[in-house]
Amino acid sequence: MVTAKTVVDLKLEEKYGLFINGEFLEPTNGHIDAINAANGKVLSRIARGGKVEIDLAVKAANNAFKEWSNTPIEERSALLHKVADVLEANQERLKMIECMDTGRPIHEFDLDYKLAIYQFRYFASAILTFEGISRPIQNGHLIVKKEALGVCAQIIPWNVPMIMVSFKLAPALAAGNTVVLKPAEDASLSTIEFAKLLKDVLPKGVLNIVTGYGTEAGQALIDHPDIHKLAFTGSVGVGRLVGKTAGERLLPVTLELGGKAPHIVFPDVDIDRAVENATLGYTFFNGQSCVLGTRLFVHEDIYDEFVEKLIARAKEVKIGDPTDPSTRLSSLINEKQGKRVLGYFDIAREEGAKILYGGNRVTVPGNEHGYFIEPTIIEAESDMRIAQEEIFGPACTVTRWSDIDEVIEMANNVQYGLAAGIMTENLENALNTANKLEAGSVWINQYFNFQSGAPFGGFKDSGVGREYSKEALDHYTQSKTIVVAYQMPPAGFFK
Ligand code: NAD
Repeated sequence: MVTAKTVVDLKLEEKYGLFINGEFLEPTNGHIDAINAANGKVLSRIARGGKVEIDLAVKAANNAFKEWSNTPIEERSALLHKVADVLEANQERLKMIECMDTGRPIHEFDLDYKLAIYQFRYFASAILTFEGISRPIQNGHLIVKKEALGVCAQIIPWNVPMIMVSFKLAPALAAGNTVVLKPAEDASLSTIEFAKLLKDVLPKGVLNIVTGYGTEAGQALIDHPDIHKLAFTGSVGVGRLVGKTAGERLLPVTLELGGKAPHIVFPDVDIDRAVENATLGYTFFNGQSCVLGTRLFVHEDIYDEFVEKLIARAKEVKIGDPTDPSTRLSSLINEKQGKRVLGYFDIAREEGAKILYGGNRVTVPGNEHGYFIEPTIIEAESDMRIAQEEIFGPACTVTRWSDIDEVIEMANNVQYGLAAGIMTENLENALNTANKLEAGSVWINQYFNFQSGAPFGGFKDSGVGREYSKEALDHYTQSKTIVVAYQMPPAGFFK
């Protein structure tokens, strides 16, 4: 494992270019500092791409499309396995780069990279069995082909960079598309370093990466006339903009947006286990993830004991330097995000919610720049803003329930529908409840239980479409129906 002591070996470049047509190009608009989220030091500088570079990247992707989409699936599959091999072989270094770029605990990246490597292997395999239809019909034959779309414009957020890169690239490339990907301006280093590693693996122009600001590179990408698909993960606000653009241009679109997941605790649980699972569920990813179980609904019979233990467990969560393997909670991505999270605690107080534990920024020596926020537990009514809006920090609300129908209604009464959790030993209760929850993923008794090939995506405002599963291949292809008649109908047939 790469530890803080070996950070000097990361050998980041002083500044990076834009990865276009297999080469690194100097940007016309200069660079943006890539900051260590915890200590504020400049790690490197990423290129500030804009309209000019997006245009070059889209051209390169269009030029590469014909050959890549006609490359036999066995070859594309083998190349995606190579991509996975490269990621696997370089993962320790990339994990540390990502840890410092995002401020997230190094400990968490084993999960990120396991999922990312797996994504490339999964789609390398899935494409081999992604079949259309071929069957004899009367006097002929029917063929339904799955054809690649063309150039995919993909835009991702900063919270889990390599997971996002893999979720976007693996199905798109497997299906024969070429890509222009824009990572988030706050965490692009692992993505651009990955591009360096892939320079001689993928044919030129198949993958292009343009770093830069959303309003510049991002906007230019979605507005470009020669793209054929939009795929976006990020906030609901920008997601609506991307969806609107797709609507106007009639482009296929997939959106993975925010979340505010309910986590329902039944009275029959082992409280210590449930508290552990709940704590993981609201603090992992520094609380900066759309899937977190941040709305805890606890049955009244166990409420007091559960909450008391939840607070005791929060006190034990180790806040520290992100590069320390024993750290479980570290710096939020930047000051803006830190202030936003603290601002939500003020909103909670103003609307009459009660902060039972946490709510403060803490200082970690050597990392005074970073926004380290205590795990925060807030007693709230389920319709308060603090229990409705995405905070994107290590905080959860706790709400008491007594009636199953009522808790399901409270759980569903939210604009989002990405994930949900249930804890109970009664599997009949669990499945009945899961069936009634409006969420794309429901985890029973173990939060974040991501499973191979299981579709991931949101109900309601959490998004459109599914990733992480074979369903994603449908979003990156279009069907062509070819009907063959062996002979034309006899002359006079139409009289
Ligand atoms: P964001 O929407 O501000 O930014 C996401 C990406 O969009 C970035 O690359 C950004 O540069 C780009 N962007 C911003 N404005 C743009 C524009 N006008 N045109 C084109 N691109 C533009 O989101 P964020 O703050 O980076 O990420 C946090 C959000 O992402 C949260 O709301 C979170 O829930 C969501 N998220 C969702 C998932 C999911 O799978 N559902 C996963 C991770 C994060």
